[in-house]
Formats: sequence, C-alpha cells, structure tokens
Amino acid sequence: MACTAGSKILENYRPAYDASVVRKLRECGAIIVGKTNLDEFGMGSTTEGSAYQVTANPWDLECVPGGSSGGSAAAVSARQCVVSLGSDTGGSVRQPASFCGVVGLKPTYGRVSRYGLVAYASSLDVIGCFGTTVADAGILLQAISGHDKLDATSSKRDVNDFTSQFISKDYFESQPLKGLRVGVLSETIGDGVDKEVVSSIRGAISHLEELGSTVTEVSLPSFSLGLPAYYVLASSESSSNLSRYDGVRYGNQIVSDELSSLYGGSRANGFGPEVKRRILMGTYALSAGYYDAYYKRAQQVRTVVQKSFKEALDVYDILISPAAPSAAYKIGEKKNDPLAMYAGDIMTVNVNLAGLPALVLPCGFVENGTSRLPVGFQMIGAAFDEEKLLRVGHIFEQTLQGCSFIPPIIADEFKC
Ligand code: GLN
Repeated sequence: MACTAGSKILENYRPAYDASVVRKLRECGAIIVGKTNLDEFGMGSTTEGSAYQVTANPWDLECVPGGSSGGSAAAVSARQCVVSLGSDTGGSVRQPASFCGVVGLKPTYGRVSRYGLVAYASSLDVIGCFGTTVADAGILLQAISGHDKLDATSSKRDVNDFTSQFISKDYFESQPLKGLRVGVLSETIGDGVDKEVVSSIRGAISHLEELGSTVTEVSLPSFSLGLPAYYVLASSESSSNLSRYDGVRYGNQIVSDELSSLYGGSRANGFGPEVKRRILMGTYALSAGYYDAYYKRAQQVRTVVQKSFKEALDVYDILISPAAPSAAYKIGEKKNDPLAMYAGDIMTVNVNLAGLPALVLPCGFVENGTSRLPVGFQMIGAAFDEEKLLRVGHIFEQTLQGCSFIPPIIADEFKC
C-alpha cells in the first residue's frame, strides 16, 4: 500500500517494509483493511491539512473528526473496522477519539516501537490505539507493545497481560474503585473551556465518585506553559525530521538541472502550507542566536512540566481533564486560523512532553443545533502504568448508564 502521510510529497510512495506495529499485528492474525486519512505528517487537528481529503465526523458530516489521526477515529466510530492505529505527538489519538465518541489510548513513550512510523517529532511521537471499547483498545495495545531492536527508544520493560485488568461487571464489588485517588486538573475545567464540555467532565467525575474513588481538584501551575513549549519543540524536531524529503532520497521530484532548485522546487511543490509553516518556525527556533531564547527555553519548560506531573502522580493514581476544550466543530471553521487550531491542543500536549500514558473515554454529549456531538474525558497515568488506566476505564464504561456512543447514521443502518 502507498504510504503518503497525507502529503503530496509522498504521493505514490510505496514503503519497502512494514512498520513493526503492522508486522506484529499480522503475526497475531489481524487483517489490515486499509490506511486512513490524516493531516499532512500529523500536523493539524482536523484532517483538513491532508493533501488528499477531508474526513467527515460520523456524528455530523459537516463537522471535523479531529486530528491529526481523524481518519482512524472516524473509521472506528463508523464501525468500518474494529480497531485502528494512529500517531499521537501532541494529542492526535486522544482529541479525535473525543470528537468521534470512541476510546483513544496513548501509551507511554517507548512502550510501542516507532520503527516504520513516519516521524514528526521523535521525542514526542507515539503510536496509539482506537477502539469502541476499552477492552478493544487494550487488546490492540497488548499486540503492539514491547521492545523492538529496530527502535532504540522502545522500552525493555516487561509487558504485563493488560487483559487481566478486565473484570466483568457481574463480578464487581459495590464500589469497585474504592481507594483510587483521582486528581482533577483545575486549569482544565475553567475559563476557555466549553461549558457543556465541563459539565460532561463533571458528570464523569461524579460517576468515578459513585464507583468509590476519592476525587480532589489539583492545580498544575505549569499547565499553560506546555502549549507554547510543545509548538517550539515539535516544530524544531519536525524541521530536522522533514529534511529527508528532498526529492532525492524520498518523495516526488521536480524536473531541474540544478541541485538546490531541485531540492527547493520539490519541497515547494510537495509540502502543504502548514508543514512549510512548521519547518520555518522550527528552523528559526533552532538557528544560532535564537536557540537559547526558544529551543533551550522550551526544553527547560519541558523539564518543569515533567516534574510537576511526576509530583502530582506521586499523590494521585490518575489525573483527569477534558480531552479537548470543545466538541467537534464545523469543517472550515478554524482552517485559516492556525493559532486557534493550536490552542485546541491545550489539554493533550503536556502529556506528550511528560511522555505519560493517557486514555480518552466518551462520557457525554454537547448539543450542536441539529446534532449531538460526543465528548471524551482524559485519564492520565504514571509512566508505564497503562494497566491502571485500562482497569479504571473498563469499570467506568461498563457502569456508565444511558449513553450509547454509536453515531445515529450508523445506528440507523444497523438498526441498533
Ligand atoms: N495538533 C497537534 C499538532 O498539530 C498534534 C498533532 C499530533 O499529535 N500528531 O502538532
């Protein structure tokens, strides 16, 4: 199959090998039914940045599915496949999971091999899982986790049996989450967050309390610093990673009899506007004279963010926030406003800076004129403690009454 990463520069590019995750899935007997749409090289939050298509949200075809891995989320939401993979550099599995009403799981950095993943920002990139249930996402994670000698950043830690965390409702005690300490990030449920999103999150919090957990609000003062630091670091790393697309080693080549215009012309022709913007921002941040003010500073902020999450997770078992400040919005609404688009990543980017695992689960809806759109909440766990997230998430979804997260057009078609 062609591997385009949503970019014209890789149109018709056929990779010579499978990514390790794909190889592992095939070895388990999985059938790969297709590849899905995404924002070019993972840069975006809607799939509108794809050089090929815009994916529609199955809940409202006029709305975006989220992104960048919006095609993978929409495919699971529309029941076109049982599970799917996406990449999450700053939220690209979790935000589309929330927009499409499916489960999205971002593993700890290093849990899953990145060998064969098209690189965006290598210190942040992870491959994540979509499913309609926590169990499906967990089974998929089990299949793709573990050390890979082809990726030196993949962890050598043992991979436990995640499925042992799944207890059927029939065996629950009256308070199955008794003893669980939950911290709600206060910065994520205040100003700038859609009111209906906040009330869905509050509903999820009450549900966790009913299940026996102790919920406390916790403030992370460094929270808002994550977004600018992420954009400096992600752009910087991408400007380096994308230098391989020069029209010679990879990608479409323009006709030219001179080397530098061959490079320049192939890139000018092959990259879309958002990718060019990131390369320019990243190159600027890394250039002599600006390096200390931007890149180094952002790295310092990253250390502060990591430390504050570590401290909070020493006290709480899991931390809670919305997965995005709003539900899905209309196609075209933010396309020409990159800063508004970047601001929508506020809930997810800190988790990548800290390398932590996080699980997004559908928990409610917002009314959007003619349609209802799903809302997801995010649970953040300690590094390599995916098991706890899966256990809590599995109990949560089995006990959430009165919510069906099947998009109406799909429910009508299958009469469910
Ligand atoms: N929306 C974010 C960005 O554009 C995150 C993308 C991602 O996780 N791939 O960088």
